Amino acid sequence: MDFISYGRHTIDEDDIGCVVDVLRSNWITTGPKISEFEDEINRYIGSKYCVAVNSGTSALDIAIQSLSLPTGSEIITTPFTFVATSNSILYNNLIPVFVDIERETRNIDPSEIKKCITKKTKAILIVDYAGHACEIDEIKEIAKINNLYLIEDACHSMGGEYRGGKIGNFADMTIFSFHPLKHITTGEGGAVVTNNEEFYKRLLLARNHGIDKDGKDRFGIDADYAYDMKMLGRNYRITDFQCALGINQLKKLDRFLRDRSRLAQIYNELLKDIKGVELPISKKYVKHPWHIYTILLKDYDRDKIFKDMRKRNIGVNVHYIPIYKFSYYKNSGKIDACFCPNTEQIFKEIITLPLHPGLNEDHIKYISENLLDIIK
Ligand SMILES: *Cc1c(COP(=O)(O)O)cnc(C)c1O
Repeated sequence: MDFISYGRHTIDEDDIGCVVDVLRSNWITTGPKISEFEDEINRYIGSKYCVAVNSGTSALDIAIQSLSLPTGSEIITTPFTFVATSNSILYNNLIPVFVDIERETRNIDPSEIKKCITKKTKAILIVDYAGHACEIDEIKEIAKINNLYLIEDACHSMGGEYRGGKIGNFADMTIFSFHPLKHITTGEGGAVVTNNEEFYKRLLLARNHGIDKDGKDRFGIDADYAYDMKMLGRNYRITDFQCALGINQLKKLDRFLRDRSRLAQIYNELLKDIKGVELPISKKYVKHPWHIYTILLKDYDRDKIFKDMRKRNIGVNVHYIPIYKFSYYKNSGKIDACFCPNTEQIFKEIITLPLHPGLNEDHIKYISENLLDIIK
C-alpha cells in the first residue's frame, strides 16, 4: 500500500480544462471569474454577500479587520484549531482569549465562553471542529445578550448544516478555506460570506489595498484613472484561474460530502465497541461534512500508535496542538498563561485517520485493521 495521506484534493480533467481556458483568456486576475465564483458560493450557501480571497487565513484577517474593533479588545476563541484562527486576531492588534472545549465534539464550550466575558470582550470566533457545527443557537444567544459579534471559522465545515440551515447563515461573517486539504480547493484560497452590506463593503476594500476600484473598473475607453484609497488594506486577491477551479469544484461539493460521509460510516462500523477507543459523534440536528475523522485513544500511548501507523504507510495526524502551547504565543506577552483541561486531555489522546474522497472502502479497511493490530 502506498502512503495514504490524511487528506488530499480531488481534481479531475474537467477541473484542469476550466483552469486552462482562463489562462488563455484576457483576464487572469480581477476578471469575471471572481464574482462568478462568489455568486456560486452565495447560491450554494444561501448567503447574500461573498468576498473571495487568496487564502482562508486572509479571509479570517479581513473579517476581523472589518469589525473595526478598538485596539486591545478581546475575542473569545478555541485553542483547539489551526493557528490561523487566532493569528487573525493578533494581526489586528486584538487579544485572543482561549476557552476550553467539549470532549464530544472538540468544539468550544458555550458555558466556558460565558465565564470569560469581560468589559473588553467584543466578539466570539468559533470553529466547527472537523466540520461538526458548534452549539450555534446557544452561542448566538450569548453573543446577543452580551452585545458581541459572532465570527465562524468554517474552514472545516463547508456544506455542513445545523438544525436544517447551511453553515454560513448563522454568524455575522463566516470563513471558508479552499486549501487542498479542505472540501473544495482553488490551490490556495478562501472566502468570507455575510448578510451584512456594511461588512461586505469593508471586506471588498480590505482585499484590495483599501482602494475603491479594481483593475476591471479602470479598464476601457470610458474609464477614468481616478481612485481613492479609503483604508489600509492588503493585496489578498484571488486569481481568475483559481476561481474557475473553485466554480467547478463547487459543483462536486455535494458528491465529495457524500463520499466523506460514506467512508466515515465505514470507520464507525469497523472501529465500534473497541475498549478505550472513542469514536467521533454526530449530533442529530447536525449534518456533519467530515473534514477530518478523529478518534480518542483513551487507554493507549497515542505517540507510539502514531509512529507505528506511519511505519505502515498510514498518514495519521494530530489535530491540534493547543495554540497556547506554541512558543510565539507563550512569549508574546500579550496572552495570559492558559491551561484548558479538556483541550489538554484530548490533545493527548486524539489521532486523525485518513479521510478524503480519493480513498475507497479498501483503504478504510486497511487503516482500521492496522490500527486494531497495533493496539491489541
Ligand atoms: C485551513 C484552516 C485555516 C486556514 O486556511 P488557509 O486557506 O490554509 O489559509 C483556518 N482555520 C482553520 C480551522 C483551518 O482548518
